[in-house]
Amino acid sequence: MELLEKRIARDGIVKEGNVLKVDSFLNHQMDIELFDEMGKEFRRLFADRPINKILTIEASGIGIACVAARHFHVPVVFAKKAQSINLDGEVYSSKVESFTHKRVYDVIVSKKYLGPEDHILILDDFLANGCAVNGLIEIIEGAKATVEGIGIAVEKGWQTGGKSLRERGYRLESLAIVEDMDPQTGRITFRR
Ligand code: 5GP
Repeated sequence: MELLEKRIARDGIVKEGNVLKVDSFLNHQMDIELFDEMGKEFRRLFADRPINKILTIEASGIGIACVAARHFHVPVVFAKKAQSINLDGEVYSSKVESFTHKRVYDVIVSKKYLGPEDHILILDDFLANGCAVNGLIEIIEGAKATVEGIGIAVEKGWQTGGKSLRERGYRLESLAIVEDMDPQTGRITFRR
């Protein structure tokens, strides 16, 4: 998606350790006009899928998912990061290793909001090694719901998440795929 690529190229900051900072428009301050265009594009890309719910993970996925949901006319459920001592039989849960914070979280979704009748679009801001998305897939499988697709704002193409999800047959659509980025020069190149 050219609009998003241009914005990343203009305002993205390449950090050491494979991290792309997009705090000025996506992860901290949020450009809602841009989110709206992204939502429209996700809708176009997944128009053939019978999606009745969007699932994301707190915190950065929530804004994108909510704006996208306006185009799908479906509710958004977000997986919550929980303390494991609070886990009980009322939730689906999985473990996710945070790429940016390097720690493992339990993530949970109440059994009230996910079930076998659901056809889910997973949405998130970034795809790196795929831990967050795999955690959400596990939760969906636990609920015996169907994964209709996975929509990502920014995929880092050299990390393994995207390749492995595509190889497993998931319909994965990333609005921008960063092919390479250099913390020394700040240069970011995209896969087209
Ligand atoms: P994964 O679980 O695929 O390894 O990483 C995805 C998650 O880590 C996303 O939910 C996102 O919050 C965070 N993340 C991964 N890479 C980056 C990055 O380069 N920049 C930012 N801002 N977040 C990232």
